[in-house]
Amino acid sequence: MTCALTLAAAAPRVAATASPLAAASSSRRRRLGATTTDAAAAAVRRRRPARRRAAAAAAAAASDDDDSHYYSGDARGPNAVEDVVELYLARARATAADSDPSSIVDPDDDGPPRGRGKGRVYLIGTGPGDPGLLTLKAFHLMQTADVVLYDRLVAPAILDMVHADARMLYVGKQAGFHTRTQDEIEAMLLGFAEVGATVVRLKGGDPLVFGRGGEEMEALMARGHALSIVPGVTAAAGVGSELGIPLTHRGAATSVRLLTGHLREGAAKEAASGEGNAVADPIDFAVTAADLDTTLVVYMGLGTLPSLAGKLIASGFPPETPAVAVERGTTPRERRVFSALGELPDAVLECELKSPTLIIIGKTVALSPWWPRKAGEKAAEGGGTFVLQEGLAEEDTAAWFERDGATVRKLRAMGNAERKAAAAGGESAR
Ligand code: SAH
Repeated sequence: MTCALTLAAAAPRVAATASPLAAASSSRRRRLGATTTDAAAAAVRRRRPARRRAAAAAAAAASDDDDSHYYSGDARGPNAVEDVVELYLARARATAADSDPSSIVDPDDDGPPRGRGKGRVYLIGTGPGDPGLLTLKAFHLMQTADVVLYDRLVAPAILDMVHADARMLYVGKQAGFHTRTQDEIEAMLLGFAEVGATVVRLKGGDPLVFGRGGEEMEALMARGHALSIVPGVTAAAGVGSELGIPLTHRGAATSVRLLTGHLREGAAKEAASGEGNAVADPIDFAVTAADLDTTLVVYMGLGTLPSLAGKLIASGFPPETPAVAVERGTTPRERRVFSALGELPDAVLECELKSPTLIIIGKTVALSPWWPRKAGEKAAEGGGTFVLQEGLAEEDTAAWFERDGATVRKLRAMGNAERKAAAAGGESAR
């Protein structure tokens, strides 16, 4: 079964749509005869027996836990870190580099303070998946790496951009393989830095948003190493923009709140015993802190979605509050489920969304051009004020806007060469 299709006509308040790229690949599948749209739509609409639904809920929760390595650790292997560092050293000796790729970055930039060892450590956000969302700084630093530590959410297309001689180490979860604990990852970062390597730590999204980047920074600093941090487009921003969902919007959302649906291991115990500042249940916190003028963005929230939706509704959120769950946002395999909040948990189960999935709840979700509307309703109302740049907009486009009742304000635009010349001459180019 696939959910990569539009259900708006059949079920106005619940719709699963695919990105244009995913739609293209699903039409390719159809040409191959794998799934027909009608059969798939019927399968999506069929209600699943309670037992299967419970199993699917458990599977969704388990798959969501795939991301729990951001919070918790796993079994450790003795000496594993030392072995890896030793392996790196042996390889580095064997392939003694004859060029200094770090010169690709700003030659005047001495990089982060190096602390006791000589190596540099860069903690880099790679965005939600679309390689186009990688920053130029991240790209350049990826050309300087001796060793790269990456986890599950870093897109393969982005890994392909790391230069060919870098040593690549997967430190995320993988069935059947030893999973690195957070302590081991931190020990590896230190180990490589202290033997003089340029270490690039790649993380999905932004490294400091639910990415444990802060912990890695603290571990390095505790040993006298500083690191440079390169921001990435966090899933909320990447997915929100791609879907045309403003996270804040005048008159609809005065704030945005990024939440985790997943509880850090041990936090419940700490909270119960009154230790630390632990919050017992992030969902309870989300609900007490939420208001109708806030856009809620939930990371790692598949497993706890039924609880979150129920508690939000019990605390006064209308069940028809617009919401969306997006799996693998900004990638060709993206799947989206638009739904009213009250129906979202069921819709997500029916479409069998898996991790990584981001959930956005709030009035601004209905501003998305993909939000299902009643037949005949226009996606966007006419009027408003359009700002056109002279020389960039066709005259007849301006006329079109004017005809639609908009006010057209013209701005002076200059060519970029002209702007640079003006800036060089000390004149403001703005
Ligand atoms: N540092 C990351 C978040 C890591 S936590 C960031 O800033 O985006 C992992 C969670 O992020 C996933 O469970 C999911 O909720 C969300 N996420 C990350 N990338 C995503 C994507 N491409 N599509 C949907 N959700 C995503």
